[in-house]
Amino acid sequence: MDICYKFRDVSSSLWNEANYAHRQGETFHEETLTQRLIFLLKRKLRGTGIYLNSISRSKEAQDGGDWEWVFVRNNEAIKMRLQAKRLYPSAKYEKLHYKNQTEALIKSCSSDGYMPLYCFYNFDPPIAPIEPRIFTCHHDYRLPSYWGCCVADARGILTLGSTNDFGAVHPLTMPFHRLVCNYNQNLLEAVENNYSKIPIMIRDGEYSELGQERTVPIIRDSIPHHISKMLNLYRTELFIGDGQEREKRVDEIKHEIFDDRQGVSRITVFHDRY
Ligand SMILES: [Zn+2]
Repeated sequence: MDICYKFRDVSSSLWNEANYAHRQGETFHEETLTQRLIFLLKRKLRGTGIYLNSISRSKEAQDGGDWEWVFVRNNEAIKMRLQAKRLYPSAKYEKLHYKNQTEALIKSCSSDGYMPLYCFYNFDPPIAPIEPRIFTCHHDYRLPSYWGCCVADARGILTLGSTNDFGAVHPLTMPFHRLVCNYNQNLLEAVENNYSKIPIMIRDGEYSELGQERTVPIIRDSIPHHISKMLNLYRTELFIGDGQEREKRVDEIKHEIFDDRQGVSRITVFHDRY
């Protein structure tokens, strides 16, 4: 079963919802979009053999924290650490270069084998319409809604300096679904291949694929301890006892996990159990 179109479906929903909300005078913030993304994806992936588990810190502790994506299969994992940023009605990612976030992200990733990533939420701002490019994969789809969610390597974003407008950021991004395209019963293999296709800037206005310009150090690692712990959260042993008792135990484990993960406020595991 191919999962590419399911991811694309979720991106489209986010795009359409954000557009609709904006026209109703509402603004969806990163947190809302992220919750929506996880919720929709969880539902869409049912029956595919990919299970999505996600936990987050308490609301107060979430501000500015990183988000971890961990792709797991058998005893291996590919780990990413990212920041989610939304497009503003000005057609700029206004909070993109917040303090030295990009450098900090890259640094924290390089020390523990994570890929540094940005996840962008897009919509079509009426006062400053955007022109997303066609991004081909062998699946058939039309512009522009699959750009509702897209990703970039943080090392590419670093080359932008303080520029944050859609036109400058866009060539460095790849639609979210493209990360899992050509999934052939092995999620890690798909992610590994696709990640190297993320565009980077090689010269002013000239772009290449990450994998062509340097060795992409995509590290397949053993499953980190905190992820095993998290996956255990959903195993049956825990479901002994009444609802209250169970909830308390789950809360304790979540605390333990986040105590070890400084600066991380959300962890999402894509578990390939096919
Ligand atoms: Zn595809």
